Amino acid sequence: MADPRDPRPLIGEPLALDLLNTRWRGTPVNDLLTDLDGYRIWLASAGLAERCPADEASLRAVRTAREALGALVADGAQERPAAYAALNGVLAHGRLLHRLAAAGPERDVEVDEPEWLAAWLAADDYLDLLDQGAHRIKACAHPTCILHFFDTSQNGRRRWCSMAVCGNRAKAARHYEKASR
Ligand SMILES: [Zn+2]
Repeated sequence: MADPRDPRPLIGEPLALDLLNTRWRGTPVNDLLTDLDGYRIWLASAGLAERCPADEASLRAVRTAREALGALVADGAQERPAAYAALNGVLAHGRLLHRLAAAGPERDVEVDEPEWLAAWLAADDYLDLLDQGAHRIKACAHPTCILHFFDTSQNGRRRWCSMAVCGNRAKAARHYEKASR
């Protein structure tokens, strides 16, 4: 269930994009991750409140991961090694451990400092999304919207973060253009 304190217009995207979506349209741009209160809201919504510390160091790490992800989803990121290096810098703080236990295979994340766990999980999630289909990682088509989503629609034609918000805004703008000609 959505947290009534959570002001974000779009929630529920995969972790990497959910982290990117902690910034959204506004002047200045709205940002949930400016303080620990907002950071706690994000951790809870991502199901990470129990696993990750909600302190300044962890917030800094998560903002670092967000910046890296933001550079990667920007146009032309393929040509910018710095965008890869930033994400790999976050990933270098953790690794996945595989082991077999009585209950079956177990996979644990090990991070060098606890503050990197949330950031590492978000960065790792981005790799998962690339594996599932890089073309499904999309920016909302509305020119002033900065939200991102993972297009899981059958035909891969989702264009808006939300039809109700950006889809209708775009429709209304087209209608207005026609009417004022
Ligand atoms: Zn949008």
